Amino acid sequence: MRIVFCGTRGSTPAPGVPFTRYGGQTSCVAVFSDDGECRLVLDAGTGLRRLGAVLEGQPFRGALLLTHLHWDHTHGLPFSGAVDNPGAQTSMYIPAQPGGDPEEIMARAMSPPHFPIRPREMRGDWRFLHLDEGSHDIEGFAVLALEIPHKGGTTYGYRVSDGHTALAYMPDHAPIALGEGRDGFGPYHDNALRLVEGADILLHDSQYTREEFPARAHFGHSTIDYAIGLGREAGARHVVLFHHDPSRSDEQLDGIVAAWRGHDPPVSAAVEGEVIEVAERTPA
Ligand SMILES: [Zn+2]
Ligand SMILES: [Zn+2]
Repeated sequence: MRIVFCGTRGSTPAPGVPFTRYGGQTSCVAVFSDDGECRLVLDAGTGLRRLGAVLEGQPFRGALLLTHLHWDHTHGLPFSGAVDNPGAQTSMYIPAQPGGDPEEIMARAMSPPHFPIRPREMRGDWRFLHLDEGSHDIEGFAVLALEIPHKGGTTYGYRVSDGHTALAYMPDHAPIALGEGRDGFGPYHDNALRLVEGADILLHDSQYTREEFPARAHFGHSTIDYAIGLGREAGARHVVLFHHDPSRSDEQLDGIVAAWRGHDPPVSAAVEGEVIEVAERTPA
């Protein structure tokens, strides 16, 4: 499996010189299968605009899985030439939730007077679908979808496996909603552990430092310490800090990564545009 970070930022885009290296676009990850095709994309933040370049100008044909419907996970939709394209065929999945069919739920935020066009006005062939919790076969990947605590609407974490390697994706997660937990940043609860167990790579909400957290815990995000603690607890092979706070500068992220150097499992911070080849575990 190969993944490309199209957007790594949380909450709102962060343009400007202090953010150029780790990137300012919001959450979006392109997933390639071993045949070299990208038929699965996680979240549709403003990073989705990069998908056109990632696909070398070809229209997207595949599944777009949203973790939830907050702006920073949907605002790339009408601005991506890869999906707003006469040749595109996109099945967009949102977590199953009350409130009507998925297209109508999307249209609440994407229609006049909030926005000039409705979801159906994007070019290409669109299917808007609810995804239930549980195991699914989507575009040749085994996808486990489980609800995790966040804030303001149903939120899923995903585990995506191609039979060789497994990716756990939890960009927005507020375990503190369930209590303080062993380390004070929320418990390592069952759904989070199931999603991450033995994963080759974990992309996790890393919005706050432990110093920032007490004043901002009510925003519905995790600490860097929690992301790394969950990875260690569940046996992940690599923890990638993701959903960087929009105020977090490149310099600060460099310092955070340096502070965790030598940790087991290894810790890095997601860089917009970065390509990661998720390697298979070498047999013991
Ligand atoms: Zn978010
Ligand atoms: Zn969110």
